[in-house]
Amino acid sequence: MKKTAQINSKPPRPKTDRNGVEGLIRTMMRKHRTPFMVIRRCVLEKQYSRFRKYLPEVIPYYAIKANPHPGVIKTFVKLGASFDVASAAEMRHVLHLGASPGKIIFANTIKSDEDIITARRRRVRLMTFDNEPELYKLAKDYPRAHVLVRIKVTNEGSVVELSLKFGADPEHAFFLLRKAKALGLTPMGVSFHVGSQSTNVENYLQALEISAGIFNEAKKTGLSLRIMDIGGGFPIQHFDNEIGVNFERMACQIRREMKALFDKKVRFIAEPGRFLVGPAGILVTQVIGRTFRNNKNYYYLNDGIYGDFSGMIFDHCRYEFKTLRRGQKYLSTLAGPTCDSFDTLSLNEEIPELYVGDIVYVKNIGAYSCASATTGFNGFPPAKIILI
Ligand SMILES: *Cc1c(COP(=O)(O)O)cnc(C)c1O
Repeated sequence: MKKTAQINSKPPRPKTDRNGVEGLIRTMMRKHRTPFMVIRRCVLEKQYSRFRKYLPEVIPYYAIKANPHPGVIKTFVKLGASFDVASAAEMRHVLHLGASPGKIIFANTIKSDEDIITARRRRVRLMTFDNEPELYKLAKDYPRAHVLVRIKVTNEGSVVELSLKFGADPEHAFFLLRKAKALGLTPMGVSFHVGSQSTNVENYLQALEISAGIFNEAKKTGLSLRIMDIGGGFPIQHFDNEIGVNFERMACQIRREMKALFDKKVRFIAEPGRFLVGPAGILVTQVIGRTFRNNKNYYYLNDGIYGDFSGMIFDHCRYEFKTLRRGQKYLSTLAGPTCDSFDTLSLNEEIPELYVGDIVYVKNIGAYSCASATTGFNGFPPAKIILI
């Protein structure tokens, strides 16, 4: 018998079905047990074509760490996307799913010897680096590698700061590229990452300006750079009424800056992760228990921090929790299923009263969620992923 904690009183059907999402959830509930994550291919396609449309000169390399699910990768392979991988395992994964080696960038600036050798064997030639010792490793294990120097850029206003850990000082970039050349590698250009969920377009504009300076400096000494990698960081809306996220406007400004600063021969690439996959994911959970404590309703869901809400920790992400019920809202706490009180999702959600078996769902949770979930802490497996 299929067992989901069903309740007797069905929630009333809302008058306007929010984007068909609630209808979709009801349909899926007939076939699948919660928790599950629905990933809509049509949204992956939409995000990919939005990116292509507003940044037509920029080739997107999907950063698979955001969501490495085979169905997601296959969808992007079909769309003709390229891929950003950070390890030999990720490299093998995308190659196995049909990506060609020429459409992969190995974009971790720190690589183990084994991983460099795998890249050579698999003919994945394009990679980033940000320090001199790495160049010696590459020169030894993969002398024909094509390298981009990753520079440290401002991550102001980005939710996840990456320049804390990666990127050479821009003043050293030219030296490093020359060093690469002296060691027999092929210096190809510059890369940066403005930090994830970067709503501040200035980060990109400033980084482009600094990069253009490096291109010019190189040109003066006869080193012609050909690839400008503008990284990831493109933001998405996590809440329905969120303001300040406008990809189209950002893209327009980025594009203008690229045209103004770079030679026509320069090829642009990017490494979007969140932008391509975040909006495609809907996580559906159920209330498995409830209580009243601290003058509040407490609801325990069957997915939590150790599962698909892991992004609340690792990705510093906040989500909009929605229910299928309507009516009076009360201040409530939402928690995950494990025996750890750290597994608490929100202490102050305004939501209608819920009963055991009721649905709590979250949209725009396709990136940095299932990817970083544990495999089953306390015996609670992460949500099943369903591509539709
Ligand atoms: C994580 C990462 C990305 C993807 O970043 P988003 O903010 O998800 O677009 C791209 N490039 C590198 C090197 C990364 O580490």
